[in-house]
Amino acid sequence: DDKLEYIKSKIGTFPDFPKKGIVFRDIFSALRDPTACKYLKEVLVQLVKEKCPNAEIIVGLESRGFLFNFMVATELGIGCAPVRKKGKLPGDLISVEYVLEYGKDIFEMQANAIKPGQKVIIVDDLLATGGSLKAAIELVRKAGGNVIGSFVVLELEDLHGRDKLDCDVYSLIKY
Ligand code: 5GP
Repeated sequence: DDKLEYIKSKIGTFPDFPKKGIVFRDIFSALRDPTACKYLKEVLVQLVKEKCPNAEIIVGLESRGFLFNFMVATELGIGCAPVRKKGKLPGDLISVEYVLEYGKDIFEMQANAIKPGQKVIIVDDLLATGGSLKAAIELVRKAGGNVIGSFVVLELEDLHGRDKLDCDVYSLIKY
């Protein structure tokens, strides 16, 4: 609709960032624009309320996912929790290893972040190959959570990231 078109028109495009051959879609370009901020909040909150009204906690992926998990949590009246790269979170942790283009990385969550059986939604800014979201879903399940949906603002469709994910995936803007 019009709001999504407006937001999309404000997303920055940076060819060959962070490496040659990658077209980087920059959500921060849109967040500089007050109208795009307002619209993005409205459409994301509306989508979550429509698709997962019974969500009990929202998990955001480091770091741009954090822009959205707290915001959506306050709008839904639920709590939020972070998935972070190894070494950033204190206390008892659970972790999952995932494969990157070159090498591996580890995601962590605080062990008490999610109660067993809790209905969880996950949010990030962008879905590319799906590796990050796949690892986050695995981590939430390891914590005992029931992943009822994942949300991203931007989806790079030709990378088919959603094919890797065995939960419902909702995106606002597709490239
Ligand atoms: P994936 O694991 O799906 O390949 O990559 C998604 C993760 O990498 C997300 O956490 C996202 O923030 C980041 N990412 C990959 N490509 C882009 C991009 O073009 N723009 C932005 N903003 N983030 C990207």
